[in-house]
Amino acid sequence: MPNRKPLIAGNWKMFKTCAEAVETAKQLMELVAEVSDTEVMIAPPFTALYPVANTVKDGQVLLGAQNLHWEKEGAYTGEISPLMLVSAGCRYVIIGHSERRQYFGETDEDVNKKIKAAVKHDLIPIFCIGESEQERESGQTFSVLDKQVKKGEERFFANDLKTLVIAYEPVWAIGTGKTATSHQAQEVHHFLRSLVGDLFGDTLATSIRILYGGSVKPENISELMARQDIDGALVGGASLNAETFSKIVQFKRA
Ligand code: PEP
Repeated sequence: MPNRKPLIAGNWKMFKTCAEAVETAKQLMELVAEVSDTEVMIAPPFTALYPVANTVKDGQVLLGAQNLHWEKEGAYTGEISPLMLVSAGCRYVIIGHSERRQYFGETDEDVNKKIKAAVKHDLIPIFCIGESEQERESGQTFSVLDKQVKKGEERFFANDLKTLVIAYEPVWAIGTGKTATSHQAQEVHHFLRSLVGDLFGDTLATSIRILYGGSVKPENISELMARQDIDGALVGGASLNAETFSKIVQFKRA
């Protein structure tokens, strides 16, 4: 059996003030205090990273950011560098989320540079990919994902990507209440693992964690996690409430 520790990651998007973020993080710490077989990560907005880092420092909840700039520093008004994220206590960073691609014009090339910057600074990238509803309906799901993976991972070697996490997030399932069936998700995860194998070899394909994201809730997590190639979840809306998120973290194992 491959030794892939499940990861349940919460993306808080543009929600929560510093005080609210700290309060939710405190509640979550208590609720998941006994969990040791699953990694738990939360990604609050930038402003709350440092206070939340102080809140979670003695527990097992890990901290992530929702984005980064690829340069270490410079005249890039409004941007945040990998170095700054590390100094704020981040271990993970979400890269290429569909909302960044859709609303902020992030391209596959930008995503590639961001993954490079994250790896260089020892941040674990959560590399998001996914097809739109129209792409799925016109039968392009696999070709879209193939292109996103190849572009995002261009000029990398297997060794650079040892820690990389891929998040498959069908755009039509994000924040819509529509979840891919566990069969649809498994089919794509299997395809992605084979693609990683073709590009980087079996060792990386076996060890890489592939998360599912898109309207994950306490009611559907166990069925998703029972599938062979699903190693965790990237959770948006349902991660904002500590109790709901803790139920997802404590999914029923098959
Ligand atoms: C996300 O933001 O990555 C996400 C999957 O959102 P939601 O769980 O709300 O669909």
